[in-house]
This record gives sequence, structure tokens and C-alpha cells, in this order.
Amino acid sequence: MKGQLFINGEWTGDYIETMDVFDPATGEKVGSIPKAGEKETKLAIDAAHDAFKDWSLLPAQDRASYLMKWHDLILENKDEIAEILTKEMGKPLAEAKGEIAYSASFIAWYAEEAKRIYGRTIPASAPNKRIQIMKQPVGVVASITPWNFPAAMIARKMAPALAAGCTFVAKPAELTPFTAIKLFELCEEAGFPKGVVNLVMGDAPSIGRVMTTSDKVRKLTFTGSTEVGKLLIQQSANKVHNLSLELGGHAPMIVCDDADLDLAVEGVIASKFRNAGQTCVCGNRIYVQEGILESFMKKLEVKVKGLKVGNGLEEGVDIGPLIEKKSYEKVQRHVEDAVAKGANVVIGGNGVANNDSYFFHPTILTNVTDDMVVMQEETFGPVAPIQTFKTDSEVVAKANDTRFGLAAYFFTENYSRGTKIAEGLEYGIVGWNDGVPAVAQAPFGGMKESGMGREGGMEGIEAFLETKFLSISLK
Ligand code: ADP
Repeated sequence: MKGQLFINGEWTGDYIETMDVFDPATGEKVGSIPKAGEKETKLAIDAAHDAFKDWSLLPAQDRASYLMKWHDLILENKDEIAEILTKEMGKPLAEAKGEIAYSASFIAWYAEEAKRIYGRTIPASAPNKRIQIMKQPVGVVASITPWNFPAAMIARKMAPALAAGCTFVAKPAELTPFTAIKLFELCEEAGFPKGVVNLVMGDAPSIGRVMTTSDKVRKLTFTGSTEVGKLLIQQSANKVHNLSLELGGHAPMIVCDDADLDLAVEGVIASKFRNAGQTCVCGNRIYVQEGILESFMKKLEVKVKGLKVGNGLEEGVDIGPLIEKKSYEKVQRHVEDAVAKGANVVIGGNGVANNDSYFFHPTILTNVTDDMVVMQEETFGPVAPIQTFKTDSEVVAKANDTRFGLAAYFFTENYSRGTKIAEGLEYGIVGWNDGVPAVAQAPFGGMKESGMGREGGMEGIEAFLETKFLSISLK
């Protein structure tokens, strides 16, 4: 495959030096893309800027129609996009298909929301005055997205931005650009006017610098590491750019002694081992109440033993490769640190690295203590450290004792108990008996160093709207 940039309705970039993209399951080259930098990013922003006025003035119904055409084309080409996604990212094909359907659900949702961007009329404090509140698109939006959900992270940002009347410049992760390229080919087929959607990729720091310092960009929306998120905040400070940031997590999963254990195990498997543990909302530390550890472990072990590791394109594979060597080494480091400090490896504990492909066996650790790195940092791999707890207040305090606040999960059948735990958790997303809560109609995002802003739901389109207060004085 040979990728190109999409700027002002044209595929371009042949003149630029290239970067290679590899299949993480085999280490083989998938294709190459242009290594775009400042110049191409500026061109893409200019195109989005020029297209903004006409696009923002289109009736919402018309913007919704373009979005629905794109949505339908994505679903028609679901299998092909999923295969591209698995080849460049590694997740099992069934999960890739799920991601495409999930991406499309955001586009359909925001095609509908486009028609429901309501303002307000507020009673004024003088008889001759009127107060109106208008909602208007922020302007040109730039986005930077990661490799772990190459389709969904783009759809979740682009659909509400376009629905709101914004034009868009996307920068996907250079590890997984071909899914984005396919999505943009379908944008072209859907007939979006020139310049409304643009795609650049290449030298991430140079592209990011232009996006954060351009006068023409009004909003930057980013999903990725907290470290890069902080850098983007600093770079945006001078222009006071409007930012939405979805950053790292360190999700606790709490299993109470009155939980439905089958449900809890199912939730832990779905949250912890999906995408080989490479999601920002992955359960990262599991707290099981004293007294049920043994029965919980029995059920969990059976399920984890049944998980098949391999190339995501093969039938029946549950856990694909880690994205790159760096990730593999990090997971290995976390496990080694835990073992050195006294953890027991119940299952797994090691990986297989060959020919530039890096697989890690699903791993369960017990006898885990708070000083272990696995209990303090996001592992981004298929490792489940398990600790016991005595009381709800103790476990909620432990769950909150982190700089992160993205997702948290707990399992209990008791409504009063669950309500109090939910209220006590300092997290933007809380799953109660639910390991996979994210959907298009609900706001997704984090507290503390996990970011700012929300994607999905009403909040997801609000992020791309300005609020204008109009005060009218009548004669
Ligand atoms: P991850 O650890 O998940 O790869 P990163 O934060 O490194 O997370 O990457 C997320 C996105 O941020 C990717 O598209 C990557 O290319 C981009 N990125 C990385 N460094 C920078 C930077 N200095 N400026 C702008 N974007 C960056």
C-alpha cells in the first residue's frame, strides 16, 4: 500500500520522503506514507479555513446528509476497512469489525445531533431588552489521534465537528495511517466539498507545532498520552487555543463480595484483555474483596486460559500482538518489577518476540502490593494485577489515589452500596457491572490528568460550538 495526504480535495504528497508502516503481527512492511511536515499542515489548514464559511452556512440537514453518506459507505466497506486495521494495528479481526461499527455509530449519532443544535432565549431584566444565546461552530478543527483505535478516534472527533459546521484537519498516528486513508477515500466518495476534510501525517512534532500555533486553527482535539497532551497544552498557551484532551488512564476494577462473579469475570476479561490491554480505559488494577478471592480466581483463570494469542487475522484469536517493541519492553518491565517485589505469576508472565513482532501472554498476578509499578502506572498490555480489599471506603480511597481519572469499574448487586461507590469514584466514566461502557450517545472523557472535555453525547458536539450571547435593546 502507498498512502497519500488528502488536502483540499486532492490526494498528494508524492514529492515528500516516505515512512514505512509495519504489520505488528509479522513485522512485515504494510506500506509507506509521505512524511509530511509544516508545509503540508499549513496547506491543509488553509484549505479547511477557506472551506469553513460555506460549510458552516449549509443547513444542518445538508451536513447531516453528507455524514450519513459517509456512514453508509463505511458500513458497506466494513470488512475491507477492518482488514486494513488489523494488518496495521494487530487487534483481532472481530474487534476491528466492532471498531468500524462503533465508529459508524458516532457518525449516525452526530448526523442527527447536527439538526438539534439549539440556542436559547432568556427573559431579560428590562422591558426593552431581549437576550438570545446562539451556538456557532468554533471554526477550523485540528485533530491528533493514536494508533490503538485508528478508526474510532477519528470518527469520534470528526463526526461532531463536521455536524457542528466546523472543517477538519486530521493527523492519525503514523503507526496506523491506512485506516484513516481508507476513511478519507470514503469521505471523497461521499462528496464532502473541497477542503472540508483534510488528512496529513508524517513528522508528528512538526505537524503538532503548526496545529497548536496557527491563527487559523480554533480547536485542537487530541487523544494520546498524558505526556504529549501536556506538551500540546504548553504549545497552545500562546494562542489560547480551545482544547479537548483524552489522555492516559489507570482504571481500577473493584469486585465486591456480593457481586455476580460470572458477570464480574466477564467484565474484567472484556475490559482488561480487549485490544491486548492497549486501551486507555482498560482495567489496570483489580481489587477483589476478601472472602471471594478464591472463587473469583477460579472462574477468572478458566477464562484467561481460554484466550488465544496470535495474528489477529487468524480465526479464533483473542489477543493480537503489542503494537511495537517499546510497548513489549514496558509490559515486561512491569511484570518483572512486580515479581521482584514479591508478586505471584498465576498465568502467563512472559511473551514471545520474534521478527519484529511482539506478543505477550495474558497474565494474572496476585500478591500484589501498592509499591509495584503495575499498581501505579498504565501498563497498556494484557496484565491483570490482583489485590484484595476489606472495606468499600478503603478501596475507593485506593482507587482514587492516582493522578489519573478516566475510567473505573465496580461489580456489586447491591444498589445502595453501588450508588455510594459510584459517587465516591473520581473518574469521568464509571462502569457498574459493565466492562465496556463507551457508546456514541454518552460523554466519554477523564478527570485530573486524564484530560479535559468529553467525546460522545450532547457534550461531544458542544465541544465544537461557541456560545454567543446577543443582547438586543429595542426602541
Ligand atoms: P501513544 O503512547 O499512545 O503512542 P502518543 O501520545 O505518543 O501516544 O501518540 C498519540 C498521537 O500523538 C499520535 O498521533 C502521535 O503521532 C502524536 N504525537 C506524538 N508526539 C507528538 C508531538 N510532539 N506533537 C504532536 N503530536 C504528537
